Amino acid sequence: MQDIQDHLREIQQELPPHVQLIAVSKTRTPEEILEAYTAGIRDFGENKVQELVEKYEALPKDIRWHFIGSLQTNKVRKLMGKTFLIQSLDRWNLALELEKRAGDAELVLDVLLEVNIGEEPQKGGIIPSDLPDFIEKIKTLKHLRVRGLMAIIPQGSEAENRVHFQNMNAWFEKLKNEESERFTMEILSMGMSMDYKTAVEEGSTMIRVGTSIFGQRNNA
Ligand SMILES: *Cc1c(COP(=O)(O)O)cnc(C)c1O
Repeated sequence: MQDIQDHLREIQQELPPHVQLIAVSKTRTPEEILEAYTAGIRDFGENKVQELVEKYEALPKDIRWHFIGSLQTNKVRKLMGKTFLIQSLDRWNLALELEKRAGDAELVLDVLLEVNIGEEPQKGGIIPSDLPDFIEKIKTLKHLRVRGLMAIIPQGSEAENRVHFQNMNAWFEKLKNEESERFTMEILSMGMSMDYKTAVEEGSTMIRVGTSIFGQRNNA
């Protein structure tokens, strides 16, 4: 358990102050999460609705929960009021469902647009060239507030990773020209245990780190 605090200290020591660390706590026990919490971490990432809801109920209420997984429309309702940021808005019918449920709950949801920057067919996310149309449509939804972009890049060499991060950063900068009341480019969420240093060099403002904090996962 002491390990978790040591790992956090190591990561945070070299992280520039403008980069937010999200501790990816999927599959981790409440005890492990509390260990990170005691070290000062308040932002945690989960990729399953049921798991996030259970942890939300069991753990301190000042935790900010980030949903980072593939989100089925029939589970959206369960998340309402429990997330600080939904990072994986990756398709139009999900946007419509989020809009509807947020409206019912009378809240405005903060979201990131997930971009399939490697254009991998098997992966979720908006294809970069579809972004302008998607954004034009999403600006009409009154209960969603887009705060930035998220990407899960393809597995590759450091040089290949860097190109994907650079492409993401180029979109992030370009879309700043489109900012409006419910559409801002403040957060660029990219970088995981294996590649977050490169991501930070290329403009990431938010890294999502699991393994390097908590150790290897058994089942995910
Ligand atoms: C699991 C996961 C992470 C963290 O991965 P690690 O390699 O354990 O750091 C980051 N982002 C998403 C979307 C994930 O599902």
